Amino acid sequence: MVNGHKIWTTWAHWSDWMFALVRTNREVKAQEGISFVLIDMKSPGITVRPIISADGCHDLNEVFLDNVKVPLDNLVGEENKGWTIAKFLLGFERAEMAAVGLCKRLLQFCRKATQTHYLEGRPLWDDALIRHRLAELEMRVKVHEWTALRVLASEETGPTASAAPSMLKLASSELQQDLTRLLRDCTGPRGTQYLRALRQGEAVELEDLRAFDNALVANYIDWRKVTVYGGTTEVQKTITAKTFA
Ligand SMILES: Cc1cc2nc3c(=O)[nH]c(=O)nc-3n(C[C@H](O)[C@H](O)[C@H](O)COP(=O)(O)OP(=O)(O)OC[C@H]3O[C@@H](n4cnc5c(N)ncnc54)[C@H](O)[C@@H]3O)c2cc1C
Repeated sequence: MVNGHKIWTTWAHWSDWMFALVRTNREVKAQEGISFVLIDMKSPGITVRPIISADGCHDLNEVFLDNVKVPLDNLVGEENKGWTIAKFLLGFERAEMAAVGLCKRLLQFCRKATQTHYLEGRPLWDDALIRHRLAELEMRVKVHEWTALRVLASEETGPTASAAPSMLKLASSELQQDLTRLLRDCTGPRGTQYLRALRQGEAVELEDLRAFDNALVANYIDWRKVTVYGGTTEVQKTITAKTFA
């Protein structure tokens, strides 16, 4: 029988199943006494309540579990050993959050925006400070890509070993925020509509950059969440520091 509440459950409203880490022993220290179970989302006692994020989208939910019966067969691995499985999965999740392609695409948009947007009659590209920011971001994207490839190619460690996933997640989330910050600075509030379309996977051409006339600062704000989900920046730094200490 599972009782509880899980906030920030992305795509719960589309899901048939969820995996959950449930407390099965309170006598031991925090990471022990947790079990990994699979729960059918159609089970009686499950309620999914939407959370509308700052950009007006519905990706997130709260899930309430009220006396939900979960068959013993749905236990994955050993009882009370769920944290070991979760850490393994988190490694994959964080390595995937490297999102090199997305970073490169955002960089491409930034470069374009510096050429198509003007300040006092001159393209932003003419501004040494803007060029400096772009050059710095370009170097970071390059380094991030090489690091991700190095991790993927490493037969010894593999993508989930050691602190590599945390380092990739950390670098990518900070890069995404700095890239979107530059894009916002270049395009003004209009550009945030563009980010929204980009995130939703719409086929937007670079030339369309000027077509988004409705301001939507909210989407830019929403992008700040990347340093929280998948484990906050501080947590990734702690994992990394412990690995090298
Ligand atoms: C948009 C979004 C989508 C999400 N989607 C999902 C999902 O689909 N499934 C899911 O399971 N979860 C999801 N989450 C939850 C997410 O994984 C957690 O919110 C995240 O891991 C942070 O955990 P927390 O909220 O418990 O905050 P905490 O980890 O409790 O952090 C609270 C604060 O304390 C700081 N802190 C914590 N530990 C340390 C430390 N050791 N040293 C220094 N500072 C520290 C943090 O930096 C933060 O400022 C989502 C969250 C968001 C925002």
